[in-house]
Amino acid sequence: MIVDHPGFVLWFTGLSGAGKTTIAKAMLPILQERGIRIERLDGDVVRESLTKDLGFTKKDRDTNIERVTFVAKLLSRNNVAVLATFMSPYEGTRNMVRDEVTNYIEVFVDAPVEVCEERDVKGIYAKFRAGEVKNLNGLDLPYEDPQQPDIHVETHKETVEESAAKVIQWLEEHQWIPAPVTS
Ligand code: ADP
Repeated sequence: MIVDHPGFVLWFTGLSGAGKTTIAKAMLPILQERGIRIERLDGDVVRESLTKDLGFTKKDRDTNIERVTFVAKLLSRNNVAVLATFMSPYEGTRNMVRDEVTNYIEVFVDAPVEVCEERDVKGIYAKFRAGEVKNLNGLDLPYEDPQQPDIHVETHKETVEESAAKVIQWLEEHQWIPAPVTS
């Protein structure tokens, strides 16, 4: 059963390998179970469809986020909960998203770059070290830590379940989603 709830955009930001996608995927069944209308917008998935034509220049990265923001805006204003997982390393970009969408909630998915490199889920850090790619935020480009995230998870100190539960609990406490029904 779908329950009554407002639209919002949970915007997960963090380094490659910090855990954005993993946490969003872990949250999905929990929220669906509670009757929340939900869509996931993921950086890697979007780049295979909506923004397949774009590369990784500064301009293309900005355009990528602009298109995604547009979709997040349409969904959130129609009472859908959006889980958006994009590195979005710059405060200015994140502020643009905040201004555009309905009910922006920032989740800082935090882990030291050394830990992310050790995980190297997509092999991107190895490619950087081999000189095959450049412009990797956290290494030769900065990652600007969110100054006032709504939610801060530290994935080098928490399990996936703990991080996901932290976000869910925050959403409940701030009444974006109803608490689970206990019988
Ligand atoms: P991102 O989407 O930020 O690039 P991924 O979610 O693809 O990162 O990869 C994160 C990796 O870190 C996964 O292998 C995941 O199992 C691991 N991990 C360890 N602890 C956590 C945690 N608390 N939250 C999320 N991921 C974690």
